[in-house]
Amino acid sequence: MMPTLVLAGTPVTRQVFQDIGGVGKAIFYVLGTAAILIFFYGMWQRVRKYRRGRPAGRWVVIREALRGRGRTGSAGALGRPDTRTVGTLASNKTIGRGDRATGIAHFFIFWGFIVAFAATVILTIDVDIVRNVTNLLFGHEDSFFHGTFFIIYTFVVDTMGFAFLVSLVYMAVRRGVRRPWRLNYARAHKPEDGYDRSRLVAGDWLFLGLLIAILVTAYLLTGLRILSQGMPWFTELSPFGRLVAEAFATAGMTPAQAASVHTVMWWVHASLALTFVAYIPYSKAMHMLLDMVNLLATDRGATPNLPKPAEDKAGYQQISDFTWKELLDLDACTKCGRCHEVCPARAAGAPLSPRDLILDLRQWVDTTAGGLTLLDREGRPGATGPLAPADSSRIAGTVVSERTLWSCTTCMHCVEVCPVGIEHVSTIVQLRRSLVDEGAMDPTLQTALQNLATQGNSFGKSSRMRARWTKGLDFQIPDARKVPVKYLWFVGDYASFDDRLQENSRLLATILHQAGVSFGILYDGERNAGNDVRRVGEEGLFERLAEQNIEALAGAQFEEIFTTDPHSLNTLRNEYPERGASYKVWHYTELLAHLLETGALAVRPLGYRVTYHDPCYLARYNGVTQAPRRVLAALGCELVEMPRNGINTFCCGAGGGRIWMDDSFLAERPSENRIREAVALDVSEFVVACPKDVTMYTDAAKTTGHSDALAVRDITLLVAEALVEPAAPQAAEVTV
Ligand code: SF4
Ligand code: SF4
Repeated sequence: MMPTLVLAGTPVTRQVFQDIGGVGKAIFYVLGTAAILIFFYGMWQRVRKYRRGRPAGRWVVIREALRGRGRTGSAGALGRPDTRTVGTLASNKTIGRGDRATGIAHFFIFWGFIVAFAATVILTIDVDIVRNVTNLLFGHEDSFFHGTFFIIYTFVVDTMGFAFLVSLVYMAVRRGVRRPWRLNYARAHKPEDGYDRSRLVAGDWLFLGLLIAILVTAYLLTGLRILSQGMPWFTELSPFGRLVAEAFATAGMTPAQAASVHTVMWWVHASLALTFVAYIPYSKAMHMLLDMVNLLATDRGATPNLPKPAEDKAGYQQISDFTWKELLDLDACTKCGRCHEVCPARAAGAPLSPRDLILDLRQWVDTTAGGLTLLDREGRPGATGPLAPADSSRIAGTVVSERTLWSCTTCMHCVEVCPVGIEHVSTIVQLRRSLVDEGAMDPTLQTALQNLATQGNSFGKSSRMRARWTKGLDFQIPDARKVPVKYLWFVGDYASFDDRLQENSRLLATILHQAGVSFGILYDGERNAGNDVRRVGEEGLFERLAEQNIEALAGAQFEEIFTTDPHSLNTLRNEYPERGASYKVWHYTELLAHLLETGALAVRPLGYRVTYHDPCYLARYNGVTQAPRRVLAALGCELVEMPRNGINTFCCGAGGGRIWMDDSFLAERPSENRIREAVALDVSEFVVACPKDVTMYTDAAKTTGHSDALAVRDITLLVAEALVEPAAPQAAEVTV
């Protein structure tokens, strides 16, 4: 037998089955085997469910994440590469973002659990493998569970376990006493037949309570063992277990009493631990395993560059239409409520909450696939909602209401804040595709799509009128199809056709002309880029528009593109490359920033106190947040940031085709909510960098009664106002 380190007369180790006896051991192994079998049965059920999903094409993404590389994913030119890697996962960074205390607590829960799991595995290897094998081979039991190894083991397990326990208690206090609003599971929209979410709450508490009980009994057990051992010196290296032992001793417990209570506590602790193992796949605890995979498989690029519909399908109608990643998304949700909190549709009083959408789909999939879930379910008696008949052939409109799906502005804020990598937007669009296929949409949206199909723009105007806005200029903008230019200006529908915006377009053209920028447009060759058409769910029309634009662009001579419209920028930059057309695409603020900083445009300081609204498709989708701010700095404006700025910007409410739909049912339009946020800053100008934003916010300033105090202005207007002299013509290069 290997010698066991013995110091001061006591072996530096501990008995693993102290006073449990042969029968007790046998019972423990039977219960342990049963718990493991129940665990694997639940896991198999889950895996079987994911196997019903289509391929997701995420293995490359997972491989890159495991290699620790930031990913661009499916959006080749995405301005914001996805930096979620295995390192991000290990640091729990996604959970700490925006909520540091919870992030730190979760970090210790995550690592505490891994340490506890590793400690159990190590013990199993020693007790069940090493000791048995050495006994078989050499006739005596050998063990590595003693001496220095034992001391390090107990120190790590004891200290990490304590951090784990404290963090769990913090989470319990947060949930039960502080009660952050986002953890309230009240639905964004109450279904007519009512609902009951008390089981969701009970499920959370059972999960937390079980873990806390396991850890508390672990420390009581350690304390009793240390006391029963006579408090040997090395147990001081289990500081918290030792503290418990000293507390028992102070309370008058003798080592013999400790030994007898220890046996009872051992069974209590073992029963709780085995129950937890069996309970994992049927409960919220499952997120501990699923979220790691989900985070590694997530692809931020799949929102700026939406996935194509499944072959021969217009949108999702049944479970097998979902990809395995989308099915995994549903189970990965921890109900943290971050998406619910930031969603502009939810804030506006629409029936959509991204959290509830995920929970409804999860429950429907579980019901349909016959999955077993403990507690983590909503009770709803009606024929619609997540309890809709399992054989329902129409998810959109039954499991999730049509209005819920049409309420999404595709702002991507839910995807951005979700700590476990759920991709709500692509799922919503897939469901919208089936509604579009059935023609189940607002009449106003139908009209817009018809206009887009017949005229290539949502205004329903002839293509010949697309460049009519240039008529008031005292110079001719080159037709890039006839004259080679450096920049092709992809103007977009709103900047071309909307009467209120045409003057802005002329101003921008004049500024660029004065700065000597070589640019041209496509005239009647341009079509709507298709970004919003795609997000509405009209995939066929999107493909047609993209094809027409790509053909027109192929016939033009230019080096790079700039666009006034962030929505067009997104689709040109991220979705056209997959269709064989890759360009360098800039936003006009990037061009203006460069012209101002290189002196191609001479300006006087304006001295305005302004705030700036980041368009979702520019900031969150494509990471362009600094260029507009550089412009404002060059114009000598004092920028006062709104609380929701940069990639955390709040949507104006126009995206995802919402600009073409009725919004009279909303309690407060997102644009009105935003104007109120700006008004609180006491600024004179509300600066925007998207043509749609000019119309959205001008209207919102009026309807909220703030149009006198707050001027909504495109950034172009400020540049034009600040110009002191025509700039010296020179060729402008954009380097950002
Ligand atoms: S994309 Fe925006 S509007 Fe749509 S569900 Fe997510 S947060 Fe809500
Ligand atoms: S979808 Fe993500 S952000 Fe929303 S509640 Fe679930 S885990 Fe939280």
